[in-house]
Amino acid sequence: MSLVSDRLNALSPSETLAMSQKSNELKAQGIDVINLSVGEPDFFTPDHIKKAAIKAIEDNYSFYSPVPGYPSLRNAIVAKLKNENKLDYKPEQIVCSNGAKQAVCNAVLSLVNPGDEVIIPAPYWVSYVEMVKLAGGTNVIVSAGIDQDFKITASQLENAISPKTKALILCSPSNPTGSVYNREELKALAEVLARYPQVVVIADEIYEHINYTGQHESIAQFEALRDRVVIVNGVSKAYAMTGWRIGWIAAPQWIVAACSKLQSQYTSGPNSVAQRAAEAAYTGDQDCVSEMCAAFKRRRDLIVGLASEIPGLKVNKPDGAFYLFPECSAYIGKSYQGKRLDNSADLAMYLLEEGHVASVGGMAFGAPDCIRFSYATSDEMLVEAMKRVKTALAKLK
Ligand code: PMP
Ligand code: GLU
Repeated sequence: MSLVSDRLNALSPSETLAMSQKSNELKAQGIDVINLSVGEPDFFTPDHIKKAAIKAIEDNYSFYSPVPGYPSLRNAIVAKLKNENKLDYKPEQIVCSNGAKQAVCNAVLSLVNPGDEVIIPAPYWVSYVEMVKLAGGTNVIVSAGIDQDFKITASQLENAISPKTKALILCSPSNPTGSVYNREELKALAEVLARYPQVVVIADEIYEHINYTGQHESIAQFEALRDRVVIVNGVSKAYAMTGWRIGWIAAPQWIVAACSKLQSQYTSGPNSVAQRAAEAAYTGDQDCVSEMCAAFKRRRDLIVGLASEIPGLKVNKPDGAFYLFPECSAYIGKSYQGKRLDNSADLAMYLLEEGHVASVGGMAFGAPDCIRFSYATSDEMLVEAMKRVKTALAKLK
């Protein structure tokens, strides 16, 4: 018997976390799996950030924080937005949450009424469409293939807008493709959006600092959109703090008020000690950020080179994040020992079972011809993983 609500029955579990879980289960059975499924930095949190957390415990940061976060953290985020992004926000325009995931979900639940449409460029991060479903909204998927570097154009955006459009969720640098919208591309999108004042932009910038093109560009820089952009960001990726669970939004005050109200009933303010650690991340030495980005860039070059040598994979050169998203349709429909691989999820499962490499099939990201490899792991692991993938794919008939 199941008494689970319709709302939850309609929701899919996170495929990224599910593949990672499967990989860990195989590892626990003693199988030597290389996990390129979940996307998280493999580095330890920098020492000065850990020390700030230890001090916070000793200083008795053991009470509830304000719902949108400590003023000192919100001030540090305002300073970050000013110094790094040249954007002016007030501390009252920041809400800190349990990771960027909750920050996106807060924004979606605060904005979307049943029947509202939300435009999501595909390939997309797995959770966006599920969050929109949770809110009762309708996903309007706009697809961009590898031939357009997985980035939608202004005219594609305009064609997707209807009187019911409530929001656009734009992720740059992108998970799962690693594509980065440059200033001109963002400007073209912003010019379209300027004509539709009812559309709010949720700009997921969690990979801001893992960007190999230099300066990060935010769609919030365009004046016409200033009062309807929700920037989502956090410390998970830039500071190797995925487990600490601190993300945030910077947004117009009416959205901030709605997200705070939601959080007040739902989770309260995020973990007090982790907030102090996040504050240290933003106010401390930033060398760790560029060092980790340099390591990711080296690995990007390595995996792009290795994957390009695998017959049948179509590979682009991602400009940011830590994912490679090759097109693998040449292998879909092939079989191994009589078992046919019907889609990219089957292919990912085959690579896990036969090659002992965990990845995520592109179906979960709205791109069924592709497969995602997270390259946030050591050079040695990447070399070995791509060798295994090549061998496993060569066995398919
Ligand atoms: N947005 C994107 C695009 C992501 O890849 C992630 C990674 N999980 C998140 C949001 C959520 O980040 P967090 O771990 O801070 O919740
Ligand atoms: N963002 C990461 C990924 O896409 C973490 C997993 C998740 O939160 O879904 O793999």
